[in-house]
Amino acid sequence: MSRTIYVNGCYQPYNNALLHVEDRATLFADAVYEVVEIKAGNLVDQDAHLERLERSLNEIKLVTDFALHTIPFIIRETIRRNRVKNGYVYIQVSRGCAQRDFVFPKTNETPATLIIFARSKNPLKLDKKSKKGIKVITHPDLRWKRPDIKTTGLLASVLARQTAIEQGAEEAWLYNKDKIITEGAASNAWIVNNQNELITHPANQSILKGITREGVMQLAKELNLKFSERPFSIEEAKEAKEAFITAATNLVMPVTQIDEKTVNDGKSGPISLKLREIFHEFAQISH
Ligand code: PLP
Repeated sequence: MSRTIYVNGCYQPYNNALLHVEDRATLFADAVYEVVEIKAGNLVDQDAHLERLERSLNEIKLVTDFALHTIPFIIRETIRRNRVKNGYVYIQVSRGCAQRDFVFPKTNETPATLIIFARSKNPLKLDKKSKKGIKVITHPDLRWKRPDIKTTGLLASVLARQTAIEQGAEEAWLYNKDKIITEGAASNAWIVNNQNELITHPANQSILKGITREGVMQLAKELNLKFSERPFSIEEAKEAKEAFITAATNLVMPVTQIDEKTVNDGKSGPISLKLREIFHEFAQISH
C-alpha cells in the first residue's frame, strides 16, 4: 500500500511528497518537530506533545499562518489514510521557503511549512527487545546549548547514535565536560540506585523535557517510588542497580549494559519492566 504524507495542505503520495530546496528546514534546520506514539489507532499523550510543539515554536520565534489546533485533525486523517494501528506520527514545522538569508523572512509573505507523516511499528518487537534490554555507550554531548528545544538540528545526535550502532549498542548516553550524563541521543536517561531511587537529569536547558519522562515521574508517584531530578555521573550510572531510557517511540526501555559495564547482571531490571508494563494505563489516550 502506498503511503501518503501531508505537506502544506495536501496529502501527497510518498514518492511525490517534496519540499522546496530553499525550505528553511533544509538550509538552516530552522524547524521544530514532534513524534507522538500511536497505540491501537489512538494517540498517546497528544496534548502534551502539541503543547511542547507550541513551546518550541515560541522559543525559535516561529509564527505559523495556520492555527495549531488544526493539527490534531490532520494527524487523524494522516493516520487514517495510512491505516496505521501501532507506530508513530511525525509533525514538523519549518519557517517556510524563502531565498537563503540568515534573517527571518517576512511572516506575511512566507507561510510556515507543515509536514505530517505516520509510520507503523511492531509493538511486539519492542516488547521483546525490552525483555532483553539494550546496550548504550557514553559519548560527549556535542550538541548546541538549547537541546530543550525540539529542533531538527540533530547532526550531533545522529553522529552519536551512529557511533553507538557501530559499537554494537543502540543508544548513546551523552555526557558533558563534568562527565555528567545529560540524556540519550534521542531519549532521556535514567538510573535506579541501590536505594531504589529513580534518578534523571533535571529538565533545564541541557536536555529535552521528554513527555515519556514526565509520564514515568507520575508513575513513580503512583508506585510510591522515590525519584530525584538531579545530575548523575558516568561513574554513578555504571554503579546503578538498573538503568533505562524513555522516549515516545520506545516507552521505557531497560538498559543492561553501559559501555563495557553490565547493569543488573545484564538483565532487564524489574522496576524498569514494571514502569514499561503500566505506562499506558496512566497516559493520556486520544481516541
Ligand atoms: N531527549 C531527546 C534528545 C529526544 O530526541 C527525545 C525524543 O525524541 C527524548 C529525549 C524523549 O522525549 P519524548 O519522551 O517526548 O519522546
